[in-house]
Amino acid sequence: MNYAYQLDSGLYARFLRGMAEADGTRRIEGKIAQVQLDGETGDIAALLLDSGERIEGDLFIDCTGFRALLIEGALRVGYDDWSNWLPCDSAIAIQTSSVRPPVPYTRAIAHEAGWQWRIPLQHRQGNGVVYCSDFLGHDAALEKLLSTVEGEKLVKPNHIRFRTGARRKQWHRNCVAVGLSGGFMEPLESTSIHLIQRAILRIVRMLPAGTISQRDIDEFNDQQFTDMEQIRDFLVLHYKVTDRRDTPFWRHVAAMDVPESLTHKIELFRETGRVFRKNEELFAENSWVQVMLGQGIMPQSHHPVAAKLRDDEMAHLLTTLREQVARTVAALPSHADYVARYCGADIPAAA
Ligand SMILES: Cc1cc2nc3c(=O)[nH]c(=O)nc-3n(C[C@H](O)[C@H](O)[C@H](O)COP(=O)(O)OP(=O)(O)OC[C@H]3O[C@@H](n4cnc5c(N)ncnc54)[C@H](O)[C@@H]3O)c2cc1C
Repeated sequence: MNYAYQLDSGLYARFLRGMAEADGTRRIEGKIAQVQLDGETGDIAALLLDSGERIEGDLFIDCTGFRALLIEGALRVGYDDWSNWLPCDSAIAIQTSSVRPPVPYTRAIAHEAGWQWRIPLQHRQGNGVVYCSDFLGHDAALEKLLSTVEGEKLVKPNHIRFRTGARRKQWHRNCVAVGLSGGFMEPLESTSIHLIQRAILRIVRMLPAGTISQRDIDEFNDQQFTDMEQIRDFLVLHYKVTDRRDTPFWRHVAAMDVPESLTHKIELFRETGRVFRKNEELFAENSWVQVMLGQGIMPQSHHPVAAKLRDDEMAHLLTTLREQVARTVAALPSHADYVARYCGADIPAAA
């Protein structure tokens, strides 16, 4: 079964920090004032903190978010801008108290110039609105969010601006960009933390033994970029193939050009009903089929082996399947009961 987790990212970060420190990681609190390069090699030599402390290193992992202080600020690798394909550039997020038991899924609800999310947790709900500022102003977006959230507002709305795209090199010299410093795609499929996780696993696999190999760097960049392009195409698909035409935003995204790799995937499905998952692509065939069929692309043909099954046999198969699913679901506990029983959180008062 495909699955994903709904996490309180603040608590998760605290949990990981505790693990890392217990494992011997030394944490130095401070603000990076300057990134110093080695005059001969061009590698990063040290970080200078505003306390005056200088931290030298062999390998630097840039986790400075959108600011990308090391990979871009110091090493200037450049940015591939994908906003022509994913034009949403703003988000407003707010947390609210839960007003009903959590559902086991995230809701993404389209609006006239983007979409809204609702992510239920055990103790609160995450809400947000994503929009394209060319088509919707900040005040109207905020009003849209505040007028639709339920429960008590627990924090002030947080406004975030972003430019969708990816650093041209995720690893350059002795610096690896992980997280938002490496690029950003809107959270329509909640993929950023997954990409962080994959980057960490890749670094572990390629961790340089003494010296950094350019082949490792090239391989890392290739794999990481493939992941990002595949996710990008899946996100663009949601916008491109919708038949919604009621606002200028939706007419704009329906008419835009899309990456050649996505055109191929859409047309292959339209003509043959086939989808292929390449490499270790995050989204499996069923995800692609759900969005393409759900948005109204009906394949013109299908594999001849499907004709082996008569219509009445197919109807019987689907009915049996539906009944089995219904029986299984009826016997399961509710999502809230399941979570409370197997992984109920001990929520700190401040969370
Ligand atoms: C609107 C929105 C919704 C999202 N929803 C999801 C989702 O549903 N699922 C998902 O997986 N991901 C989601 N993400 C992405 C997720 O938030 C990020 O993947 C995650 O926060 C990335 O962490 P990061 O460490 O790269 O960047 P950040 O969390 O931005 O951390 C960067 C850190 O660098 C520090 N820093 C910056 N400059 C300096 C300096 N000079 N000195 C020292 N420190 C510095 C900052 O203080 C900060 O702590 C979302 C992102 C946005 C914007």
